[in-house]
Parts: sequence; structure tokens; C-alpha cells
Amino acid sequence: MKFLILGAGYAGLTVAHKLRRFVRDDITVISQSRLIRENTIFPLLLTDEIKVEETEFDAKEAMNMKNVSFEEAEVKEILPESREVETSKGKFDYDYLFLAMGGGYDENFRKIKGYENAVMHHTLEGFLKLKEQLWKTDGDVFVGNVKGSPIEGPSYQIALIAEYIMRRRGVKAKVYLATQSPKGVFGPIPIDWVHEKANSYFERRGITILKGRTVKEVKRGKVVLDDDREVEAEVISILPKLSAPEVVKRSGITLNSDFVDVKLPSFRAQERIFGLGDLAFTPFPRTARAAMISAENAVSTLIKELKGIELPMYSLGVLCIMEGGDDAGILRFDTDGKNTFSTLNFNKNYVLIKKMYSRLLVKRAFDVPYHGALAVRPQV
Ligand SMILES: Cc1cc2nc3c(=O)[nH]c(=O)nc-3n(C[C@H](O)[C@H](O)[C@H](O)COP(=O)(O)OP(=O)(O)OC[C@H]3O[C@@H](n4cnc5c(N)ncnc54)[C@H](O)[C@@H]3O)c2cc1C
Repeated sequence: MKFLILGAGYAGLTVAHKLRRFVRDDITVISQSRLIRENTIFPLLLTDEIKVEETEFDAKEAMNMKNVSFEEAEVKEILPESREVETSKGKFDYDYLFLAMGGGYDENFRKIKGYENAVMHHTLEGFLKLKEQLWKTDGDVFVGNVKGSPIEGPSYQIALIAEYIMRRRGVKAKVYLATQSPKGVFGPIPIDWVHEKANSYFERRGITILKGRTVKEVKRGKVVLDDDREVEAEVISILPKLSAPEVVKRSGITLNSDFVDVKLPSFRAQERIFGLGDLAFTPFPRTARAAMISAENAVSTLIKELKGIELPMYSLGVLCIMEGGDDAGILRFDTDGKNTFSTLNFNKNYVLIKKMYSRLLVKRAFDVPYHGALAVRPQV
């Protein structure tokens, strides 16, 4: 049997590690580069709390050690009818396919009108540019998301860190944070005290929250919001709306609002195809934790079918550790339908936890099966 995994991020590598624990068959990972970066820790690059090298690992080496093949190649076409994938290094066939190519950050960023006047706080390049600008500017800073962007936690962190850097440099500049929800920071969490506490913390830090506002366009030195109001800022950092990458959209696999339509909690898109991580449609934010849970659930589903072994399935939720310069915070919202766990706290020590977890992710090439998620009954 041949298992083919497209993408070596949180979801793709989690699939490979977990599958190898249960099957001896052919497993192949195809990804653009063998050099993988643990990007959830990137905000700490802005304050030199972490070095670029500490975020990196060699995925080919990690996979080969487990007898998993790794092809450094670009996926060009996915052909579900013939069960084949065309890449820059030839065709690969499969019995089961795992789509784990992320949320098309770059291609969606380039769709924003005037994107060249802003940076994107996702890629390493984006973070290095943002760092240079934040330590140089005497002007205002704007951080926000495009409408429909399914992750806002990184923007909260950038706003907090920007405020810290300005304070440390003694620069009297404004930091604007636009939140998609009219309730402000963590607005989509359905518990009032959470966003009230979060908003008052951000306001105490001197951040101007533009509630219920998204980025429509960027011009030189200003952002045009969805209500056509213009906000002037010298540093503009944004996250785009995401979608399944173009190569997935072209494949004919069913989409739901630009993402791969999957059944939950199995993340199955078709009988032999699973859609994982940032490219899968779920009502939850697209996070690394969710990507790893999607991979765990997909493999558990297959192992049950192929081997009759029952493994736990997990529910999605939100776990966000925020780096904020000289302070930090944690938000957890998890529910299994019956029980709900919610926490929002601020304390500098959370950064230490985040750094330790990131170290573990890098050292183990994302083979970290515990995500603090709740187990749910499988419904495949
Ligand atoms: C600044 C920032 C901070 C974040 N912090 C957190 C956090 O604290 N906690 C959290 O849970 N989440 C966080 N996230 C979200 C998290 O990074 C993403 O949700 C996660 O990367 C998604 O994992 P994935 O496996 O779906 O995709 P990715 O990690 O994006 O992996 C996709 C892989 O596919 C490869 N690929 C793509 N297209 C092709 C192609 N055509 N051919 C070959 N290979 C291809 C890519 O090169 C990449 O290796 C953060 C995001 C940002 C931007």
C-alpha cells in the first residue's frame, strides 16, 4: 500500500510519524524544501529572544531515519481520478493521499491591493522586514487581518510586541490593532468575560483596538479599512485571507469557501483523500495545533479501517500563547460538546512554556503527539 503526503508542515509530518508507528508500507512525503521552520515561534524573532537557526530542522533527515521517503519537489497537479500526483520530479501514485500544503499565505497576500506597501507576519522574510522596521520607525504601527482571515492570534502578538518595542525605544507612537470581530480581541470566543478581559489588557498596554474592522487595501503609509476609513501608519503588518493553494483548487476536490471540504473529526475529503491543516474547512481558527490534530484524526481513522485498532480522536479548539514583549498571555478554549474549558491569563512565564514547546517541536521534527486537546467519539 502507498501513502502519499503532500506538504511537510505540522500536518504532513505528524501524519508521517504516526502512520509509521502502525504500518510498514511505503510512506512518501513531498514538499518544496527539506528545510522546515517552526513558525509559531517567529514573533520572538522581533525581540531577539530566539534565533532563526533555533526554528529550523531538516525534514528529509528526520523522515529517512524512520524509513519514510522524502522528495524535495513542487506539487504541480493532483489527479484524484488516476490516483496520481504530478511534481517537478515526476509522477507519484498513491492508495491514500494526505493534502497538507498549508493555507496559501503567499498567493493570498499578493491578492491584496497595494500589498507591496505592507509586510506579512507569516514568512521568515516578513518577520525580518518587520523587525527592521519596528526598531527604526518613529511613526505609527498598524496590525490587522483581511476579511475572512482564519487566524488572528499572530496579529495580537505583533501589536503587543510593537507596543513593547516602541516603549523600550522611548518612541511616542500609536499602535493600532484591527480585529475582525466587533467584540474585539478574541471576539469569536462565545464567552463575554474573555473578550472583555482581553480588550482591557490590550487597552491598558496603550493599543488602539479598531473593533470589527478589516483591511481592504494598503496604500503608501496608510491602510484602507472595510468601511473606507483610512488609517495612517509607517509600519503596516497584515495577514491575508487564506485558502487551499491553487494546485488543490484545480484538482476538482470539493471546496467549501475556498478550503477543502472535509468530514469532522476524520478530516476525510474523499474515500482515499484527507484534507488537513490550514487548507481544510473547519469552523475553528487555522493553527498548528489544529493541523496536528487533523493529522492525528486522519491517521486514527485509517488505522481503524485498515488494522481495526481504535485510537483516540480529538476535538478542535483554540490554544494561543501570546508573546507580548515584557509580558505574555495564554488563551484556551476547548470543548467536547459536553465540557468546556476556558482560560485567559497574562504572565511573562508563558513565553518560557512556548519556547520549550517550540524546542520540542523542532528537536522531534513535529513528532509531538500531545496537544492538550479533548478526546471525542469518532464519527467518520
Ligand atoms: C506568526 C504566526 C504565529 C503562529 N502562532 C501559532 C501558535 O502559537 N499556535 C498555533 O497553533 N498556530 C500558530 N500559527 C498558525 C500555524 O503556523 C499554521 O496554522 C500551521 O503552519 C499550519 O500547518 P500546515 O501543516 O497546515 O501547513 P504549513 O505548516 O504551512 O505546511 C505546508 C507545507 O507544504 C509545503 N507546500 C506548499 N505548497 C506546496 C507545493 N505546491 N509543493 C510542495 N510543497 C508545498 C510548504 O512548503 C510547507 O512545508 C501561527 C501562524 C503565524 C503566521
